[in-house]
Amino acid sequence: MKFTKLRLLGFKSFVEPMEFFIEPGLTGVVGPNGCGKSNLVEALRWVMGENSYKNMRASGMDDVIFAGSNQRPARNTAEVTVYLDNSTRTAPAGFNDADALEITRRIERESGSSYRINGKDARARDVQLLFADASTGSRSPSLVGQGRIGEIISQKPTQRRGLLEEAAGISGLHSRRHEAELR
Ligand code: ATP
Ligand code: MG
Repeated sequence: MKFTKLRLLGFKSFVEPMEFFIEPGLTGVVGPNGCGKSNLVEALRWVMGENSYKNMRASGMDDVIFAGSNQRPARNTAEVTVYLDNSTRTAPAGFNDADALEITRRIERESGSSYRINGKDARARDVQLLFADASTGSRSPSLVGQGRIGEIISQKPTQRRGLLEEAAGISGLHSRRHEAELR
């Protein structure tokens, strides 16, 4: 699976619909302070199921919705869609019947989030499981936030094992076992 595009609408500073193409060779995003570089990475983490608003640098999940500016009123919804190329058919079982995957998360002020996978309603858990094996996902070690390096250095051994399991792509197994035990 490969990310190909991110679409944002009303997410943080991205009030107008915005499409960000993730093409081979992309190595960096540059721009002045406050232009939205970190917001872009947060949008990716959010659509993959991040459920901690603190990890979104917010004081509540509704804070990811465009809050308004001098020129524009606040919005009541935010939506992020991530597009994936699955032509190699490496998506986990249950998600692997199409060449492309489209995952959308939408939030409405005071009503929480909803998810869709290829246009069908899905649970946050489904989205998290979809990404759990791909060494990606909202808690992926490949998304290193500010202050995270220091945190990793001072982690306890069991926490650090969790990080290695993510990197090795086996944390999806644990997630699915946990899911099976709950049923
Ligand atoms: P730096 O180079 O300093 O790291 P950056 O490009 O990473 O900057 P971000 O942190 O992504 O910038 O963007 C910060 C901007 O996003 C701020 O101007 C902030 O006001 C704006 N912002 C964050 N949340 C919202 C929101 N809910 N509504 C409107 N604007 C928001
Ligand atoms: Mg930044």
